[in-house]
Amino acid sequence: MTDQFWKRKSLAEMSQDEWESLCDGCALCCLQKLEDGDSGEIYFTDIACRLLDTDTCRCIDYANRARLVSSCLLLSVDDPESFHWLPGTCAYRLLAEGEDIPDWHPLITGDPGSVHDAGISAKGKCVSETKTTRYSVLRQLS
Ligand code: SF4
Ligand code: SF4
Repeated sequence: MTDQFWKRKSLAEMSQDEWESLCDGCALCCLQKLEDGDSGEIYFTDIACRLLDTDTCRCIDYANRARLVSSCLLLSVDDPESFHWLPGTCAYRLLAEGEDIPDWHPLITGDPGSVHDAGISAKGKCVSETKTTRYSVLRQLS
């Protein structure tokens, strides 16, 4: 099993590689969101960012994402406000809130596909914004 660095290090203490490895590849943060103007509740739609490969749930230009997509979430331990836009399953948000990462996380299973097998990810549930203007609400951000 992987060294469980997240149990002995804070987010601020992690190396760049450790930080990156916390991402489970769910791609939920790459889906467009709706905010209820009255309640403030936020919902994920099934419309994906134009740079998301919806088959693999990977960004096709990760290195240039900030320049190409202004709404792309650039996570930083110095900007905890941005964690608000992450799903409740996301390791960054869970660790920031003092929780552990879930059993299906690739860092636990050693299998990058375990996030898909667990039904957590957007794989098979979304369509690129380049291919449709119609959307459905996938789930509430919690
Ligand atoms: S929601 Fe979190 S775990 Fe999922 S892709 Fe985004 S940063 Fe990674
Ligand atoms: S630019 Fe890439 S990382 Fe950012 S939201 Fe789009 S697909 Fe996701």
